[in-house]
Amino acid sequence: MAETTELPESEAVQVLRRVFGYDAFRGEQRKIIDTVIGGGDALVLMPTGGGKSLCYQIPALVRSGVGVVISPLIALMQDQVDALTALGVRAGFLNSTQDFEQRREVEQAFLAGELDLLYLAPERLRVEATVRLLDQGKISLFAIDEAHCVSQWGHDFRPDYLMLSQLHERWPDVPRIALTATATEATHAEIATRLNLTDAKHFVASFDRPNIQYRIVPKDNPQRQLLDLLRTEHAGDAGIVYCLSRNGVEKTAAFLTQNGIEAVPYHAGLDSRTRARNQSRFLREDGLVVVATIAFGMGIDKPDVRFVAHLDLPKSVEGYYQETGRAGRDGLPSTAWLAYGLQDVVQQRKMIDTSEGDAAHRRRLGAHLDAMLALCETVQCRRVQLLAYFGQHGEPCGNCDTCLTPPESWDGTIPAQKLLSTVYRLQHERNQKFGAGQVIDILLGKPTEKVKQFRHDDLSVFGIGTELKDTEWRGVIRQLLAQRLLTVEGDYGTLVLTPGSAEVLGRRREVMMRREPERVGRSKSSSSG
Ligand code: ADP
Ligand code: ZN
Repeated sequence: MAETTELPESEAVQVLRRVFGYDAFRGEQRKIIDTVIGGGDALVLMPTGGGKSLCYQIPALVRSGVGVVISPLIALMQDQVDALTALGVRAGFLNSTQDFEQRREVEQAFLAGELDLLYLAPERLRVEATVRLLDQGKISLFAIDEAHCVSQWGHDFRPDYLMLSQLHERWPDVPRIALTATATEATHAEIATRLNLTDAKHFVASFDRPNIQYRIVPKDNPQRQLLDLLRTEHAGDAGIVYCLSRNGVEKTAAFLTQNGIEAVPYHAGLDSRTRARNQSRFLREDGLVVVATIAFGMGIDKPDVRFVAHLDLPKSVEGYYQETGRAGRDGLPSTAWLAYGLQDVVQQRKMIDTSEGDAAHRRRLGAHLDAMLALCETVQCRRVQLLAYFGQHGEPCGNCDTCLTPPESWDGTIPAQKLLSTVYRLQHERNQKFGAGQVIDILLGKPTEKVKQFRHDDLSVFGIGTELKDTEWRGVIRQLLAQRLLTVEGDYGTLVLTPGSAEVLGRRREVMMRREPERVGRSKSSSSG
């Protein structure tokens, strides 16, 4: 009779069960953990909710010494340490929020070998005393969380992260594991280079979040549109609503509250007590809506966020992916909903034009915006496009707006030529630049005050575009912007031609456009489509 030999349970599995109370590893956790326990370096790309923390926590418990975790999320360190302490793990942190006494206690515990994990803000490593402290203790591993922060190309660059390349020089025998939930192929490569992770094993999980339904709609009356969404599909659900400005946050929170939906604001302009209270209410209560700037959410682990809504266009696809990724960590169906309009593009171009930093930096921001626009205006499956942005392959998902109600695509070459030619004439015959409103009025042949003032009714293009409505022309402009066939600049969002415009005007290029599926229950006002 054949004997069945059971493999002895590895120490990692024992820790998983005994300390964390889970039965089995998920996805590639086991391979990652084995790599680090074996002393190797690892670079881990895994979406939010994928289970990155265990990938360094378990090796830190299995290897001898203290696992040092570099994290930019200072506000969460206390929570993380509390959660670990509750599991019986010995953890501490060092950051700028502590006074001398608190720091000394943690330092002594570290030196005495009484810690399993030490969380460290990256700027601590700039302090020579911290480096000396680390030299005196025994380090089991370095975990570099939110590793995309080292990338200048990425959307969340933190200069202090550049110093982390020194970890390897100073402590060559200590294994390192870098983790992130957002990285394009370019960022991925940049992380490896900048952190000197030349021999690291790369673990790249699928970035797909199948339970999240992606939807992007043209902005019409955003607060109303949001209210409709919440009433019809998310009554009583917890969710996050992102706005670009603090003012937008305040107004939207007030609007929801007036309309019977419990909502609290969150932005950096609120005092820290109010912020902390609103955040903890969101974590503890059922069905609360948080209206926030992007200051909210990094590292927040609330499993049952049923929707993430954006009332303004995110600045990058990475940002969008990270923010929407906070929905549905529990794996249940969730919605990622974004309303965007021409005004968003105008506003963001303006912010880019006036941003600090050199030309290369502005070009990067511009490229981020372009990619975001392309996602908004795609006629493909949103998920396929999103995954492609991160260098991953996907199949049409059946769970996004373009899959569920496929937009028609139509040949918009002629309207594109009419519009570009109007911009061209203004620029070359009149030496003038105007924003979308005036250009559309000219196309529609509207004899407004401003049209008469500038004698735009004398232009040969005046009134040549009556086949489309105002909102449809706005759609044409958005799509030309998304395809880089037109751009906007300056405080007033004036329209400016690009090299691509010439190809369209010279009939060397066709322009395919997306026709928005008819929506029901449209509201009256249309201000920023
Ligand atoms: P990430 O940091 O990748 O966003 P976390 O490490 O916070 O994800 O993990 C997300 C959730 O999944 C947490 O609640 C965590 O406890 C849980 N989790 C992680 N690994 C496992 C596992 N192997 N089995 C069960 N639950 C897990
Ligand atoms: Zn799809």
